Amino acid sequence: MDPVIFLDRDNTLIANDGDLGDPARVQLLDGVPEGLRRLREAGYRLVVVTNQGGVARGRYGEEDVDRVHREIAGLVDQAAGRRGLIDRFYYCPYHPEATLPEYRREHPWRKPQPGMLLQAARDLGLDLPASWMIGDQPRDIAAGRAAGCRTVLIGGVSPSPDAVPTAVAADFGEAVEIVLATGRPGRAGRVETSDLATLRRAVEDLAEAVGRRDSGTTRGLGVGLLMLAILPFVAGLLQAGDTAAVMPWFGATIVLLLASIATMLAGRR
Ligand SMILES: [Mg+2]
Repeated sequence: MDPVIFLDRDNTLIANDGDLGDPARVQLLDGVPEGLRRLREAGYRLVVVTNQGGVARGRYGEEDVDRVHREIAGLVDQAAGRRGLIDRFYYCPYHPEATLPEYRREHPWRKPQPGMLLQAARDLGLDLPASWMIGDQPRDIAAGRAAGCRTVLIGGVSPSPDAVPTAVAADFGEAVEIVLATGRPGRAGRVETSDLATLRRAVEDLAEAVGRRDSGTTRGLGVGLLMLAILPFVAGLLQAGDTAAVMPWFGATIVLLLASIATMLAGRR
């Protein structure tokens, strides 16, 4: 299963101050092709998920949405210098207050609901907990969270208390930096493994250093501790009959015996 970056379209990838159904008006935002290329090279698939209420309002048709998406894909590929950078586009043409009756309904694909993200996960076999949603509206963050992804809110909109993003970024380029720096759970796991390996090497180095010590001296120390253990043992014997007074002396004897045995075993290396 692949991790994915879910991408809002309008004012995340392209500038759009109103209903945009004309491919000639598509304008990529700064840093978008480069950012997408870097995310792809880091192993993420790229899927656009966009509400297109303009269809429901009769401002443009679904075929115009498809033309705009082909234009975006072409511009991104051209600028990034490779083909097929964006894997797929999903859009929701429905709206509960649509002008056109055939589009007038609430729909599980309409953000803040996560329907498009979940459909993409089924279609493409995506690893949602290892994935991210980047968008400029609280509804993008809500959809990403509902799908189990981490999220970055860009563009200076205040986060909604109902949908707190994982991170906030000034623009798309900064969001890419955050995703690449934070990485995927799998990567974090590898870092942890590497930290454990460092710890194991340190323990091995210490054991080797102990092993290099003069074993004669170590054995001498063990014998010394054994002799020392006789003192509290004798003190305990002298108080035989008073159980409460005996116990601390015998306890000390056992501790010294164990220390002696451990030291002599270390000296055998
Ligand atoms: Mg947007």
